[in-house]
Amino acid sequence: MMNGESHLRQNYSGDLQCLPDLGTLVFINISDVEKYISGVVMAEGGAGKNLEYFKTQAIIARTYMYKYFDKHSSDKYNVCDNTHCQAYNGFSTDTLLNKATLETRGLVILDKDSSLIISAFHSNCGGETSSSDDVWLSGQPYLKSVVDPYCITSRNATWRKSYPVNEWLSYIRKSGYKGNIENPSIFNFHQDSRLTDYKIGSLKIPLRTIREDLNLRSTFFSVFAVGDSIILKGRGYGHGVGLCQEGAMEMAARGFNYKQIIDFYYFGVLISDIKNAVALP
Ligand SMILES: [Zn+2]
Ligand SMILES: [Zn+2]
Repeated sequence: MMNGESHLRQNYSGDLQCLPDLGTLVFINISDVEKYISGVVMAEGGAGKNLEYFKTQAIIARTYMYKYFDKHSSDKYNVCDNTHCQAYNGFSTDTLLNKATLETRGLVILDKDSSLIISAFHSNCGGETSSSDDVWLSGQPYLKSVVDPYCITSRNATWRKSYPVNEWLSYIRKSGYKGNIENPSIFNFHQDSRLTDYKIGSLKIPLRTIREDLNLRSTFFSVFAVGDSIILKGRGYGHGVGLCQEGAMEMAARGFNYKQIIDFYYFGVLISDIKNAVALP
């Protein structure tokens, strides 16, 4: 909670443990699971959203927590409080959010073999989510591409970036392009639906490499040569895999419930109590 001064005050509940670690101290908050989940939804999703959206995000956070419960076992705690695991800045004081956590208490998302899913999500898919095998090289049957009509007018639906032609050319040369450039229109490239590679002549550059190299919001962009500039017109924000947060918010605002939202973004999954999850291999 901001106190108006320059530092951040965070409220925790439960117990506090303190361990020495190479000359520093590690503070461990021993928290009730559901209080922790509310805190994560607060930190990752923000306050002021619709109840069904909060429920969706609580189930995603709970699924993630149980799936990676042993991630820090060698550090003598379960999960850290930054995005390496899930952001957590202490408990939530938002009543609607806490109600959503309580009403979905214990619920997680399971695949057809009753294993906890990788509950990936991102800010905005730009109108089409990514298939996990296109992004991570290892595919999950429940993380398939879906056309999303719900997020396309949201805040992060589009972006734009421009480069001088020479700068773009030197990047493309560094990436292996050997041909001549007679006209910058050779750089033009269209993505009406998501592709995996930028093609220029016979060269293919993976879009996720370009996104990483140039720090782009997404891989879902088209390229246009306009005068001395190369314009990138992009859609969405994030890797695009799994649930689209801005789409989910809009679905909740239009009256869909958390089950319908989760079913829309994750294929063939089951929402069930954590008791029904099979132990991980
Ligand atoms: Zn961590
Ligand atoms: Zn979307």
